[in-house]
Amino acid sequence: MSGTLVLGYDVESASESTAGFMAGAADLHEKYDIPWSIYLTGHTIDAQKDNIKPFIDHPLLTVGQHTYSHLLLKSVYMQPGDGKEIHGCFPSCFVKGGSLEQCTEEIARTQKIILDEFGIVCKGITGPYNYYRGLVDRPDLLQVLQDNGITFSRCNGRDFRDCQPTPLTEQPFFYTDQGFPDILELGIQGYQDDFYWERFDDRSHGETYQDWLYWMLEEISKKDLIFNLCSHDHGTKTKEEFYTHKAWLEDLIKRALDLGIRFAGPEDIYQEMKKEQVA
Ligand SMILES: [Zn+2]
Repeated sequence: MSGTLVLGYDVESASESTAGFMAGAADLHEKYDIPWSIYLTGHTIDAQKDNIKPFIDHPLLTVGQHTYSHLLLKSVYMQPGDGKEIHGCFPSCFVKGGSLEQCTEEIARTQKIILDEFGIVCKGITGPYNYYRGLVDRPDLLQVLQDNGITFSRCNGRDFRDCQPTPLTEQPFFYTDQGFPDILELGIQGYQDDFYWERFDDRSHGETYQDWLYWMLEEISKKDLIFNLCSHDHGTKTKEEFYTHKAWLEDLIKRALDLGIRFAGPEDIYQEMKKEQVA
């Protein structure tokens, strides 16, 4: 084994970009025969279901959810401390999370929409914005996930400043200490998209997002780590725009294949880690 790359996308824009994203991502993943996952907001399904449906049974695809309205499961308090503004605020940025009641309602509602519209029993969630240490301090939210049949989470995706990159030392784990040994936290390692690299990266691994991605691949390959990469349905109105706007993605896949890195879906990681947990 020499490193694992997981490719997961937030499909949340509820805009024309959803159609081009779905067509482009399905095409790309088919071309290289590698798994992909999407995390849908209920709002996006309501607005764009006809553009999502044709790809939903794609054999390499895993479907997760991203709440109904992009509601944060926890508050995020970003303090980059680098003299630059963040999300239009300076020097820090606070984004309030939903109440437990709101989170419970939105998670259950989105599970139902995914089941009703696509016939899929959804097992995964990405918490909007992601959080420092994921849900380790929120057994109440983990209970909500369990009650809704969710077994894998992608919520651990910020550093101690509530910024990024999330270090590669943050590897997938089960929420065993919190009393939920059947819920896996996959995390999002690094930056949650090219625009977050743009904002946060110190350029110590090169001048472009691609330079940083190549460095990440070397790291996971050397240390046999998991890299769960995130991107979004932004700027992708057509399949062609998908390939142009996310040109770095195909390059990343090619480079990973050259390095002998394997590709896996969230449920592959779940099954493998479950076996180790039992053993
Ligand atoms: Zn999101």
